[in-house]
Amino acid sequence: MRKPLIAGNWKMYQTTPDAVALVKGLKGLLGQREGVEVVVCPPFTALPVVAEALKDSWIGLGAQNMHWEKEGAYTGEVSPVMLADCGCRYVILGHSERRQYFGETDMNVNRKLRAALEHKLIPILCIGETLAEREGGRTIQVVDGQLQGGLSGIPAGAGAGIAVAYEPIWAIGTGRTATPEQAAEVHTFIRKRLAELWGEAMATAVRIVYGGSVKPDNIDALMAEPEIDGALVGGASLKADAFARIVQFEKV
Ligand code: PEP
Repeated sequence: MRKPLIAGNWKMYQTTPDAVALVKGLKGLLGQREGVEVVVCPPFTALPVVAEALKDSWIGLGAQNMHWEKEGAYTGEVSPVMLADCGCRYVILGHSERRQYFGETDMNVNRKLRAALEHKLIPILCIGETLAEREGGRTIQVVDGQLQGGLSGIPAGAGAGIAVAYEPIWAIGTGRTATPEQAAEVHTFIRKRLAELWGEAMATAVRIVYGGSVKPDNIDALMAEPEIDGALVGGASLKADAFARIVQFEKV
């Protein structure tokens, strides 16, 4: 059975005092919950203080991006070694905002994904279509291209250490969520493609999470879909009570 994964992407929000307050609030609200993996992904500047606040906690720490080299003359970049040094176990890669605003390509996402695995970080590979692509009937084609591009050359044995986040761009930060059926349709396709790439057994082990305006009032319906293995949460992860309710989803 796949363990559900709920990850919070804090984006470019939270100074260090705010980040510590948020994570302390979350710890207080969450207590202990078996059977779900929870991760927070603060901005780089807050990683050390959040790591400290999460000491002895079951909540994991992740970053929102990284470079593929372990060190070098790459001004402004942060390496996988540095993330591990800060206590990260996870890293979001290929988020649509990185693709849209920073020119991230499938090739670079693939380099980053390989580097993450090499440094024992769990990559959360983000893929998803724009509204125009969906309306043009190209959702599967776009998702497939990003999936195969991001995973190019990754051996089947690495599959279980990777999570895929299906994030339709038209649903990110818009308040417009994909219906559980729309998400499940794409998740089913992704798993089918993973089975072709890596075999049925490995494909069954990969977590495929949904992202795009996930909120306390829609998480239960999304998690009712057997193909939805969790959520990547943006806006709602910045409020401890909303994120805690999302983590405490109920299978309806
Ligand atoms: C995201 O940033 O990955 C995201 C899904 O954002 P939101 O939940 O705000 O739509």
